[in-house]
Amino acid sequence: MVYFSVLAIAAIAIYWIASSGKRKAKKRQTIASIPFPTEWRKILRKNLPFFYKIPADLQLQLKDKMQIFLSEKQFVGRKGQDITDEVRVTIAAQACLLLLNRNTDFYPFLKTIVVYPAAFITRHAQFDHNGVKTQDARVLLGESWTRGQVVLSWRDSAAGGSDFEDGHNLVIHEFAHQLDGESGVTNGAPPLNKEQNYQEWSNILSEEFKTLQSQARKRQDSFLDKYGATNPAEFFAVCSEVFFEKPTELKKLHRELFEQLKSYYQVDPSQW
Ligand SMILES: [Zn+2]
Repeated sequence: MVYFSVLAIAAIAIYWIASSGKRKAKKRQTIASIPFPTEWRKILRKNLPFFYKIPADLQLQLKDKMQIFLSEKQFVGRKGQDITDEVRVTIAAQACLLLLNRNTDFYPFLKTIVVYPAAFITRHAQFDHNGVKTQDARVLLGESWTRGQVVLSWRDSAAGGSDFEDGHNLVIHEFAHQLDGESGVTNGAPPLNKEQNYQEWSNILSEEFKTLQSQARKRQDSFLDKYGATNPAEFFAVCSEVFFEKPTELKKLHRELFEQLKSYYQVDPSQW
């Protein structure tokens, strides 16, 4: 009897999960079918010149993804930052660029995007070996938490959208950390696509990471930002920035790395 009850509960749970997945997909389809607001289009034109360089089919896809993203994520302003459509659309357009052509659940762990007017100070508690607590205060432009939150400076998010060729993009950086964390740990190894090979990804990225670390130690010039030498998670985030912002140079100088990122992101920005 107990055995049958367990089976019945399991069946109900499976049915519930499957049907809630279907409901979510249906809801997303409905949201994407709503016409893209004219005001939002004006913001794209004003703040995100890259939008008009990507192929027309990807522009349409990006708009759909932005509508879904904006319907699901909450924005919170801090230190007097207003949450306007300009803030929401400018951040969403850059964040959703990482989702194009991909089978994605729209940053499933992310609930809230916290926006400060500019750089902000974070305080993290640290404990030494005697258990004595100290506060470590740092000035940051952005931060990505494993569960639930991305924190951004509005000034730098807007600057990243308007200059899309300098190889630096705060929003892409922080949202790449979110993708990385979808595996459960943020370590530079996000869940890969079916056709990708984990061993190949690991070999190529580890090799490039070690080279960058060595260049950083020897204070040598490097195409990739030395911040990427901090750890494999920062390396993946830094590489994602240049993949979208300096794809031609990345392809020329780090061909294998470019190909891995192209397979992961399912787009080729060097063609845009
Ligand atoms: Zn980072």
